[in-house]
Amino acid sequence: MNLKISALEFVQEVKNGNISAEDFVAKTLERIQSVDDKLHAFLSVNEEAVVKAREIDKKVKSGDKVGACFGMPISIKDNMCIKDSKTTCASKMLENFVAPYDATVITKLKEQDAIFIGKVNLDEFAMGLTTEFSAFGPSKNPWNTDYVPGGSSGGSAVSVSSFECITSLGSDTGGSVRNPASFCSIVGYKPTYGLISRYGLISYSNSIEQIGPLTRTVKDTAFMLNIISGLDVNDNTTRDNKNEDYLSEIDSGIDGKKIGIIQEMVGDGIDPAVLSATKDAIAKLESLGAVCEEVSLDMVKYSVAAYYTITATEAGSNLARYDNLRYGYDFSVEGYEFNSYISKARKNFGPEVIRRMIIGGFVPSAGQAGKYFLKAMKVKSKLTKEVDEVFKKYDLLIAPTVPILPFKIGEKIDDPVSLFQIDINTVTANLTGKPAISVPFVISNGLPIGIQLLADTMQDKLLLQAAYALEQTVTLPEVPI
Ligand code: GLN
Repeated sequence: MNLKISALEFVQEVKNGNISAEDFVAKTLERIQSVDDKLHAFLSVNEEAVVKAREIDKKVKSGDKVGACFGMPISIKDNMCIKDSKTTCASKMLENFVAPYDATVITKLKEQDAIFIGKVNLDEFAMGLTTEFSAFGPSKNPWNTDYVPGGSSGGSAVSVSSFECITSLGSDTGGSVRNPASFCSIVGYKPTYGLISRYGLISYSNSIEQIGPLTRTVKDTAFMLNIISGLDVNDNTTRDNKNEDYLSEIDSGIDGKKIGIIQEMVGDGIDPAVLSATKDAIAKLESLGAVCEEVSLDMVKYSVAAYYTITATEAGSNLARYDNLRYGYDFSVEGYEFNSYISKARKNFGPEVIRRMIIGGFVPSAGQAGKYFLKAMKVKSKLTKEVDEVFKKYDLLIAPTVPILPFKIGEKIDDPVSLFQIDINTVTANLTGKPAISVPFVISNGLPIGIQLLADTMQDKLLLQAAYALEQTVTLPEVPI
């Protein structure tokens, strides 16, 4: 059984009766058994998956209607609710929380006969970019297990890149889908804000985050978008995409397209290997007929500061509910007054979450808001104006997804500011609501480098066409696990 096939191949094979969903799912569970001790992508595994796969095989055999996923095994970042199963956010605070309802993306995937093979690791409440801030221990990069896999959707990226599932869903607030996709050599997609419902995604920073797929091919990302995107009455920020088909015309090419190279994302602090990969990618796109020119986005230099100010503010408010009364641990109120009780409960948060809550309490507070929060909001709107202007002249933008290569586990964990800086190339898409994708491009000294493309609002289809064109120019080695 070849576990390395794409989602589209899997669907075709099961549909034609060449493989059974049950065999595939059973083999996938065996794969998880054999490699996940080394990788720690999974926080929980769905042992019932085989039973569901068997039902799908039955439907295929009897000619009944089967959903578009045909029993495809998919992993889900553990900050999305699946009814009656644990959703921990990789936090001690939610260690025993069982979701009472399905997220909209889960409902849509269930309707299409996807199989949830397990819940995967993340930085606690999606705050971080290495998966080291998971309360349950870090995930490891399958290209070299001494290295971080990126984050916060690290478990998603590891599970897809090491064939422990076919695709995954992550969430991207400031790069959390694209960053681990880049570090693990797979495709990671952050859609236009509002393209995918966030209902049932445990909120970190609602005004800018999106759910996005992690897949091994660009076509698989388009396939996933076809299923999970679109209006949702339960999330009033969703947009009507008129049932766009993201797969059709994906091979349209990029001849004549104008692409801006974001200068502020290829300057100071970039690793020479990442810079050279970016230049190669640009040359390849030009050889396909694209016209690439340098563009400048002045506000990018303030984007990381603005991003952390806004997201910490929203996180401070979103996480206020974890007070041990509504969610949390079961310890008695006996002997505590209100503040000491809440404060004891909050000790169940890890260091990164505590850091964000402290910042998030301070920056929007009376007397400080003008200096921090409101200034950050101004940067956000100025950056959006700049990007909108650029998209009047260019179809797409390009930059490396992450300015540096994956680094060793533990190397930067005590240096939060240097970790924040690594988000410099990803947060622009979130602050402006634009769609962005990371395409695996090269393996440099055994470590992956991804290239990021951005498009204008609701130009997700064009973005996927460009990403597909770029993907076709590279052949990558197989993950050594
Ligand atoms: N590293 C960023 C943060 O910690 C991005 C996280 C994310 O996209 N969820 O906020």
